Amino acid sequence: MKYEQVPSELPRVKGQLLPRCVLCEEVPVNGIAGGYLINGMFLCETCESTIIELEVGSSQYKHYVERIKRLLR
Ligand SMILES: [Zn+2]
Repeated sequence: MKYEQVPSELPRVKGQLLPRCVLCEEVPVNGIAGGYLINGMFLCETCESTIIELEVGSSQYKHYVERIKRLLR
């Protein structure tokens, strides 16, 4: 009988933290330095500036707000 060895640890990229943005689901090039951590959630700089520039009350704004609300639950 031959058994294949199952790796006990998940592969890591040079021990670096690679956060994924909760909104666009992208991993920023700068890693954790390329965004913000809010309540344990990662938000990349791109999304952060997008949210800031959104017009309050616009459909896009509501879309983002709804998404964030769902994540905070
Ligand atoms: Zn993002």
